[in-house]
Amino acid sequence: MTADSKSFEKRWIRPLPERLINKIAAGEVIERPAAVLNELVENSLDAGATRIDIAVEKSGLKSISVVDDGCGIEADQIEIAFSRHATSKIRDFNDLETLMSFGFRGEALPSIGSVSKTRMVSRTAEADDGRELIIEGGVLQSVKPVAVPVGTKIEVGDLFYNTPARRKFLKTETTEARHLTRTATAMALSVPGIRFSYTLNGRRLFLLSQNADSMQSRVAELLFGKENIPLLKVKYDSDKLSISGYLSFPDNCRRNRSGLYLYINRRYIFSPTLLHAITAGYGELLPGGHFPVGAVFLKIDPVRVDVNVHPTKAEVRLSEERQIHDLLYQVIKKSLRGSMGLPSASSAVQIKTAENNYTAAEAIRRLKDFLPGKSANKSPDLMEKLYREQDPQSSDKGQVPDDLQSGKDRTDIDIIHKKAVETESDPGAVRYLGQLGRLYLVFISGDELLIIDQHTAHERVLYEEQLKVIESGKAVSQNLLFPINIELTPERFAVYEEASEILRSAGIISQPFGATTVMLSAISSSLTKKSPEKVFEQILTDIENLHTGGEELTRVVAQSIACRAAIMAGDVISEEEAIMLYKRLSVADNRHCCPHGRPVTLKLTKDELDKKFGRK
Ligand code: ADP
Ligand code: MG
Repeated sequence: MTADSKSFEKRWIRPLPERLINKIAAGEVIERPAAVLNELVENSLDAGATRIDIAVEKSGLKSISVVDDGCGIEADQIEIAFSRHATSKIRDFNDLETLMSFGFRGEALPSIGSVSKTRMVSRTAEADDGRELIIEGGVLQSVKPVAVPVGTKIEVGDLFYNTPARRKFLKTETTEARHLTRTATAMALSVPGIRFSYTLNGRRLFLLSQNADSMQSRVAELLFGKENIPLLKVKYDSDKLSISGYLSFPDNCRRNRSGLYLYINRRYIFSPTLLHAITAGYGELLPGGHFPVGAVFLKIDPVRVDVNVHPTKAEVRLSEERQIHDLLYQVIKKSLRGSMGLPSASSAVQIKTAENNYTAAEAIRRLKDFLPGKSANKSPDLMEKLYREQDPQSSDKGQVPDDLQSGKDRTDIDIIHKKAVETESDPGAVRYLGQLGRLYLVFISGDELLIIDQHTAHERVLYEEQLKVIESGKAVSQNLLFPINIELTPERFAVYEEASEILRSAGIISQPFGATTVMLSAISSSLTKKSPEKVFEQILTDIENLHTGGEELTRVVAQSIACRAAIMAGDVISEEEAIMLYKRLSVADNRHCCPHGRPVTLKLTKDELDKKFGRK
C-alpha cells in the first residue's frame, strides 16, 4: 500500500456502539459477582424496600437473584433503566453534592445487562400489572406484561458468559463465595430495619427479622452468631459529624480486622485511616495485632465526602480525614472507658504502668470485674495473655494461661517421629548443653556453638511434615470422642468452605451441619493436646489472615497447624527431646527460618569467638 492510497482513506471518528461502552463499563463497575450483588441490593435499598431476599447459585456464576418489596419501576421506565447513565436519582449537578441515595451513576443495570442474561420483573403499587424485561449480552430480548407483586425481582444469570477473559480472571468459586458473603453481611448490618435473607449455593446463611431499633441485635447476630453478647455502644453527635455503632469488648476481639465494618453515610467503605482510629481507641486493651469486631457508622455532610473516587465506591475521599480520625479515636476511647467503669483519669494503660500496688494478674481481675457479661464469659485468658505480654513479670506470678503452663506434658515431639529419627544416621556429633530462658536450646557441634529457638525450630519441622502430609493425603487424624458443633458467622463459614477440603487432607475432618455450623469429628493427630474447638477456630483465623493476603491455601493450612502444634516458648523440654528436635531439624529442607520467616538457628563459630576475645 502506498502513501497515496492511504491519504484517500477517511479515518472516521465514531462514537462507540452503546453495547460496547456498556461492556467496557462493566469491566469497571462489576469486577466480580460480589460487586453485582452490591449494586442490586443498593438499588433495592434506594427503592425503599423493607425486605430483601438474596439467592446466589454457583457463587454468582450461575445466578444472583435479589427480590425486594420496594417502589418498583413503572411499565414505561423499565427499558430506560437499562440504558446508559439513566437514573431516577439525580437531576442536576447540585444533587450530586447532597446525594443521600446509593446509586446515581445509572451505570449498574446497563453494565450488568451487557455481560449476563438478566431477567427483571417489577411493578409499582399504582400499576395493575408489572413488566418483565429480558436482556442478554446487552441485547434487549423482550418486555412484556406479567402479574407480579409490588416490588422488583432481578435475576442475573450466566454472569460474564460473553466476556471469557473476565470469567477466567475470577478466583475459585469458594473465593467468590467469600466475597459475596462479605458484601451481604456488610449490607445487612447497616439496615436493621430491613428484613434480610441470604441464601448461598442452596444454603440459607442468614434470615434476619426486621428490627428497626436494634442495630445492637443485628451486630450481635451477624458478627457473633448469638443475640446476647455484651457490646460496647458508641455514640457521638455534633453538627458536622455523628458516630454510632456497636463494637466488641477487648475480650472478644479478633486477630484480623475482617470483623470490623465501617460505614460513611450508610455506605460500607474501606479506610485504613479510620480503621486505625477505632483500633487505636482501644489502646493497650487490645493485644498487638488484634482488632475489635463490630460496625461503626459515620454520618458526615455529603459535601465533605467524595464518593465518586472509585466506580465500585468502596473508597471515599474525605476532606477532613485527619480530624475525623482524631475525633473517632477519642469517641471510641471514651466510650470504652465509660462502659468498663474505669475512672476517666486512669486509663487501662495506667493500670499497667502504675504497677505501684498490684500485679498484672490483680489488674486483670479488677478490670474483669468491670466488664459487662463477665459471668457469661468463661474464657478470660485473652485478658491474661494481654497483660502477660505487656508485663513479663506476670508469668511468674498469678495465673499462667494453659498453653504455657504444663512444662511436663508439653513434650509433644511425638513418638511417631521419635521412631523415624532414631533410625536415621547420626547427623554429626552434637552435645546438648541445656535450655536457656525456657526457649533457646544450646548445643555444641564440633567447633560451633548453636543456639536454636525451640518454637520456630519445631514449627519449621512440623510445617514441612504437614506440607508432605497434605500433598500425599496421608494424614493421621484422631476421631473425637463426640463430634463438636462449632457455630461460625456467615463470613467465617465462607472461609471454612473454601478451606474444608485442604483441612480434611491435613486430618481435620468436618462437615457443614446446618446453615453456618460445622461439625468437627476428627482432628490432626499432632493437635490432640489442645482444645479441638479452639484450635479449629484459630486455624480459620490464620487462614483468613494469610490467605486473604494471597498466600496459597495449602501452605497456610500447613503453617497454621505447625504453629499450633509446635512447642511454645516457656515449655520445658528434656535433653532427649532437645536432641530429637535438633536431628529432625537437620534433615529439614530449610532449617534456617520458620514458615513465618523468623530465624531458627544462630551459629557462633570458634573463629568468631576468637575475634570477639581479641585473639585474631
Ligand atoms: P442508579 O442506581 O445509579 O440510578 P442503576 O443502573 O442501578 O442506576 O438503576 C437505574 C434505575 O433503575 C434506577 O435509578 C432506578 O430508578 C431503577 N431501579 C433499579 N433497580 C430498582 C429496584 N430494585 N427498584 C426500583 N427501581 C429500580
Ligand atoms: Mg444502582
